[in-house]
Amino acid sequence: MNVSVYSIPLQLDENTYLLINSRTGALDLVDEEVLRVLRNEIPPDETILDTLTERGHLTELTPYQESECIKTMYDTYVQGHPVLHQHFIVLTYECNLQCPYCYLSDIQSKRESTVIDGPHIDTIFSIIARLDESRYRIILYGGEPLLRKNRDAVKKILETGDDLGYSFLVLTNGVLLRDFVEDFQPYEVAVQTTIDGPQQIHDKRRFKKNGSGTFSEIIEGIDAALEAGLTCLLRTNIDADNLSVLPEVVQLYHEKGWLHHPKVSMHVSPVFKKPGIQYTPIVPRSTVYDTVIAQTQKSPDIMHVSFDLKGAELFEQVFEKGELGPPRFWYCDAQSGTFVFDPFGDIYVCTEHVGEEQARVGRYYPDLVWNDMYSEWRNRTIFTIPECRTCKYALFCGGGCGYEALTRFGTLCRPVCYNYEEVFSSVVPHLYRAVKKSHVDP
Ligand code: SF4
Ligand code: SF4
Repeated sequence: MNVSVYSIPLQLDENTYLLINSRTGALDLVDEEVLRVLRNEIPPDETILDTLTERGHLTELTPYQESECIKTMYDTYVQGHPVLHQHFIVLTYECNLQCPYCYLSDIQSKRESTVIDGPHIDTIFSIIARLDESRYRIILYGGEPLLRKNRDAVKKILETGDDLGYSFLVLTNGVLLRDFVEDFQPYEVAVQTTIDGPQQIHDKRRFKKNGSGTFSEIIEGIDAALEAGLTCLLRTNIDADNLSVLPEVVQLYHEKGWLHHPKVSMHVSPVFKKPGIQYTPIVPRSTVYDTVIAQTQKSPDIMHVSFDLKGAELFEQVFEKGELGPPRFWYCDAQSGTFVFDPFGDIYVCTEHVGEEQARVGRYYPDLVWNDMYSEWRNRTIFTIPECRTCKYALFCGGGCGYEALTRFGTLCRPVCYNYEEVFSSVVPHLYRAVKKSHVDP
């Protein structure tokens, strides 16, 4: 008998562990004695042995055979789950803010200030009408999609996309959100914007080109959007400069009545390092997550905030519904259903590196032409990365960021692990406690 490659013990408290097996979907609360059996430190009690075998933590399969089972799971999953396409439309690379950590700032300085025009929009829709049966979602993206000069393009995208049956997500800095709410009202629109702290901190991080802050306008925009019935996703980008800010953000949401608002969700996202961008206050993801988790002791409302950690959402589902969500066979939507169309006629799949030649996968205007990278991106899974094939975290992690693999190693077939094990073992117990608490204390 072997201990399954895919069994992961996570400590919840002194003598309670969550024992997860991502291959079998088993999720068990166990004590130290069970772990000692798995580690071969004590002779197995018959009942424990039977249960561990039945749940798949102990198995007759070799690691190779287990990985073949995962491959079969993948084939079945792909057949049963048509791809949900998300179409990002970059209305312009231009932005009205100058946030110091912006990952697109280098592109903005290279790309001329052009707003996507009618013929490009028409071509995008004629392509997606042919390629995409899912009719899932159009994402208005930039630069900043909500500039006044983009209004005609925004309206055209909403009208045409709605006719085809799409819903919309607008990723905006929120400064002009209030002015656009009326345009959004007839359609199914969700808006994501960013609040990086209380006013004095937020305004030092997210400011206009003339240096003035944006906090008040964003708050007004969110109020207007909620009043119009739109869904709002509120994000807080965290790095060393605002590491301790979340309790105040959550307090603000509480005062605004957003914390339990059915149309509002909140998440934190560590600021990431992009090659070529000089921004130093970046801290490791594990530091961000550990700090946020520690803050929940004093500020329990932080439990309502989600983590931007790939795999964490699978556990939210586990703890809410008692079932393991679909495994993560790839890391992000760049490897499945995302298309990014820019105003210059280029197509990308990685949303965070639009405008960069390395991330370009083809052109759509005047005609649709893919380059060699397109199929490499779409085929990248945990099975095309040798290290991931036998990694116990593979079905949660998905192999790491493809773009980072490309820039660091020159190939998409390498893993980008970050410190997944460390982050996973602090975030998942936190989620477990958060869901448990919400059931006791609704
Ligand atoms: S990227 Fe690293 S942690 Fe993630 S699945 Fe691959 S080997 Fe495991
Ligand atoms: S490839 Fe990496 S940078 Fe690009 S969208 Fe995916 S996770 Fe983000």
